[in-house]
Amino acid sequence: MTKKQKKMLIRIIIAAVLMVVLNFIPAQRYVRFALYLITYLIIGYDILRKAFKGILNRQVFDENFLMTIATVGAMAIAIYENGDYTEAIGVMLFYQVGEFFQSYAIGKSRRNISALMDIRPDYANIERDGALEQVDPDEVAIGTTIIVQPGEKVPIDGIIIEGSSSLNTSALTGESLPRDVHCKDEVISGCINMTGVLKVRTTKEFGESTVSKILELVENSSSRKSQSENFISRFARYYTPAVCYSALALAVLPPLVRMLFMELPADWGVWIYRALTFLVISCPCALVISIPLSFFAGIGGASKEGILIKGSNYLETLSKTKYVVFDKTGTLTQGVFEVDAVHHNTLEEQKLLEYAALAESASSHPISKSLQRACGSRPDRSRVSDIQEISGNGIIATVDGLPVAVGNDKLMKHLNIPYKNCHSVGTIIHMAIDGQYAGHIVISDVIKPQAREAIAALKASGIAKTIMLTGDAKKVADHVAAALGIDEVHSELLPADKVEQVERLLAQKPARGKLAFVGDGINDAPVLSRADIGIAMGAMGSDAAIEAADIVLMDDDPMKISKAIRISRKCLGIVYQNIVFALGIKILCLLLGALGFVNMWLAVFADVGVMIIAVLNAIRALFVRKL
Ligand code: ADP
Ligand code: MG
Repeated sequence: MTKKQKKMLIRIIIAAVLMVVLNFIPAQRYVRFALYLITYLIIGYDILRKAFKGILNRQVFDENFLMTIATVGAMAIAIYENGDYTEAIGVMLFYQVGEFFQSYAIGKSRRNISALMDIRPDYANIERDGALEQVDPDEVAIGTTIIVQPGEKVPIDGIIIEGSSSLNTSALTGESLPRDVHCKDEVISGCINMTGVLKVRTTKEFGESTVSKILELVENSSSRKSQSENFISRFARYYTPAVCYSALALAVLPPLVRMLFMELPADWGVWIYRALTFLVISCPCALVISIPLSFFAGIGGASKEGILIKGSNYLETLSKTKYVVFDKTGTLTQGVFEVDAVHHNTLEEQKLLEYAALAESASSHPISKSLQRACGSRPDRSRVSDIQEISGNGIIATVDGLPVAVGNDKLMKHLNIPYKNCHSVGTIIHMAIDGQYAGHIVISDVIKPQAREAIAALKASGIAKTIMLTGDAKKVADHVAAALGIDEVHSELLPADKVEQVERLLAQKPARGKLAFVGDGINDAPVLSRADIGIAMGAMGSDAAIEAADIVLMDDDPMKISKAIRISRKCLGIVYQNIVFALGIKILCLLLGALGFVNMWLAVFADVGVMIIAVLNAIRALFVRKL
């Protein structure tokens, strides 16, 4: 509990005790009034002040104003009748209890979320003169060697240069099985080292490391408002004044009608009281609070599962997804190619692979990484110059003074080099050295083990169509699509063609449905931002993808796509339940209040009750494990 909350609790207790005790103290009329007034001020002074400030700022109609008018009005009636002040105080007291509960619940769910996201490392260990020294991760430069001991968090992204261990990645990915890592493996910050001591050479600064990026995302996510949230603020803008004027009408019109047309006593007191009750009932707090809280909880629950959602608007769009478009390499396949064969080579196999690896030494494409692995030794980059990467085609570079081209048939056509077709199913990497065809390397990628199930899960959850777009050869693309049960495939696309395809699909999809694109950001960052919603593979994916995407899957698991959609639907379901429930009860109470069936006590009670139920319902969005 915060200091502010403790203070509030003390005020609530004092006021409640006074309110009860004063009933038993006989006092003279004015003394009695003064005692009640003090009690009233103890519990309500901040509301009065806020209402007054609101009036000064010309933002008159808010819940503070409603409470102030209602309770001051009730006090006035009590003075006039020398009657019961308890009502005004009780109303204020209930209202404050509601506020207290609400701030407590919000604080709690925020703390829950930040506890889930408790991944910020406090220090990094650096070895100096044989002793470990703890330094601020912010001060560690790229390329520094840091030591991560068992039980510690990996503070900065890097590559293991010594040691092996298993890592607990659950805070990042929601995956509970530990991941075994060895020398030369990449490690990302935020994982917990469980068994062995690791020496890690950092590859990023702390601010650019995974952990910082994630924290930034989560911290900023709640500031992007969704349509439902906008609806609430627009709603409140018209609602509150409408209610205030209705209350005024309720106070004035019936007595006038009674007096002028029905020749009955006006009963001003009764109608003013009803108008005040009407005001108390009308307070829309339950809605105003529970909707942002539901989104917040949904985003928190998703991040627990390794799904980072950058804003509540994306949660809303995601829930309406009808088309899911996939990139192939790195998204549905692992993006780790193995060399199957080398054909028509004019050079020795190993030599050809070496040239390929050298030309590819600066690329971050999965093909490039795989060729370098196949080559074995680390390429000596001083032998390469003039590297030019042509997206969706391949690479042109100068190696040992000779022009080398590495890429697909498009690249060969582009360079006017006659090439030999290949009959194997696989991604074909043609090579040309010094303008002469030098053979091709057949590489193949492995489909991610969960990919088939992931597509099936999407279909089961009502996705109308799955589409795969790839820059790879038609043969490979058709093979993968058939193996996975994808509805539609388009292959041999350049990055610009992918955008064109997505635009065509956007025009073709059902009007109210949304289109999601899932990619790793290599050659598809433009499509990620063009789609209604861009989902990026976070671990494998490039930084560009994580920037361009609206949702990031931390562990690259395609199963998480349907999970994210289900989380979003649950969350939106809760939002709509709360809107309907809170508005329904509200309208009912308003009608009963206007007819005089509900007194002020009951009104506040109903309001606080609705709010508590709505807030509890909102918190359900946090629990997504079993979805
Ligand atoms: P995908 O859509 O499957 O992710 P890309 O658009 O990244 O594929 O690449 C399409 C094709 O372009 C690859 O299959 C490959 O033939 C060729 N290509 C792209 N980048 C490279 C590279 N760095 N080296 C060799 N070939 C490449
Ligand atoms: Mg790709």
